[in-house]
Amino acid sequence: TVLVIGSFNVDHVWRVAALPRPGETLGLGEYLAGPGGKGFNQATAVARAGARTHFVCALGEDVGAQLARALATADDIDLRDLRATRPTGTAGIFVDAQGRNIIVVAPGANAELDEDFVQTQGEAIGRAQVVLAQLESPTAAVARGFSLARQSGAVTVLNPAPADAEIPASLLRMADILTPNESEFAAQLLAHTGQTIDPAHLATQDESTLHSLCRDLLRDGTVVVTLGAAGCFVSHASDQRRGDVHLHYRVPAEPVTPVDTTGAGDAFNGALAASLARSPDAAFETHVRYANRYAALSTEQVGAATSMPQDAQVRSRFGD
Ligand code: ADP
Repeated sequence: TVLVIGSFNVDHVWRVAALPRPGETLGLGEYLAGPGGKGFNQATAVARAGARTHFVCALGEDVGAQLARALATADDIDLRDLRATRPTGTAGIFVDAQGRNIIVVAPGANAELDEDFVQTQGEAIGRAQVVLAQLESPTAAVARGFSLARQSGAVTVLNPAPADAEIPASLLRMADILTPNESEFAAQLLAHTGQTIDPAHLATQDESTLHSLCRDLLRDGTVVVTLGAAGCFVSHASDQRRGDVHLHYRVPAEPVTPVDTTGAGDAFNGALAASLARSPDAAFETHVRYANRYAALSTEQVGAATSMPQDAQVRSRFGD
C-alpha cells in the first residue's frame, strides 16, 4: 500500500482565442472542469500503476468534494478526507490559442489539512510500505505523516513541489527519497545550502558535480532529480548502497511523442512509490526505470490525473 498525503483541486479550464484584460468580457470560450492538485494526480498514478492507494486530503462540502469521491471510487483509491470549512481547492485556468495561460489557484480546503487529522490516519500509515507527499498541503501535516511513517518503517518520499515551497530542515531530514524537478532542486539547494545553480544547466552537469550537490541537499537520503526530456539523475548516500551497485547514475528519458507534459512529475512520483510498494526488495534502479517509463507514457495524453496510464499499458509499450 502507498499512502499519499496531498492536495485535491477542481481545475476549471477555459480555452479562449486571447487572454482577457481587466474589465474585458470574452464570449465564445470553451470550458472544461476536471480533477487536479499534485496530491490527487500522484494518488491516481499510484493506483493505475497497480499499488493499493490511500489518499489523505481535505475537501469542502461542495460539488468539488463529490467529484473527488466519484473519481477516487473509479480508480479504487481509498479516500480519507478531512471535512474542511473552506471550499474544495480550485484552479481557474485560461489558455489562449498559442497555449499561453493565466492560472489562479485557491487552495481552500487544502490549507486546512492538519496534524491532528493525519494522526487519526495512523493505523493506515502503519500498514503502508510507502508514504508519499508534496507541499501543496501544510508542512505540519506532511511532517506528522512522515514521523508516523518512520515509526512504522515505511519509506517516505517527498516531492518538494511547488518550487517556492518552504521546507523546514526537520521535514527534509525525514525524507528517505527526495524527488525535485530542476527548478525545485535549484530552489531547495539555495534555501538549505545557500548555493546558487542555474536549473537550465542541471541536465548537462557532469555526474560527480550533480552527486555532490545532491549530497549537500540531503545528506542521508536518496535524491532523484527529474530532468524532463533528459530523464532523471539518481544519487544515493554511501551508507544506503544496499544492493545498488552505483552511488549515482542517469536514466535517459524514454522515446515518446509528448503532446502535454503537464503532470509528468506527478506521474513519475506516483509510479516510483507504487513500484517501491509492489517490489520492496528490487534494486532501486528498477523502480526509477519504471517511473521513467510511466511518466514518459503519461505525456502522450492531454491532462494530468486523467492522462495517467495503466500499468498494463506501460508494460505493453516498454516491456517488463
Ligand atoms: P515536472 O513535470 O515536475 O516538471 P519533469 O519535467 O522533470 O517534471 O518530468 C518528470 C519525468 O517525466 C521525467 O523525469 C521523465 O521521466 C518524464 N518526461 C518528462 N518529459 C518527457 C519527455 N519529453 N520525454 C520522455 N519523458 C519525459
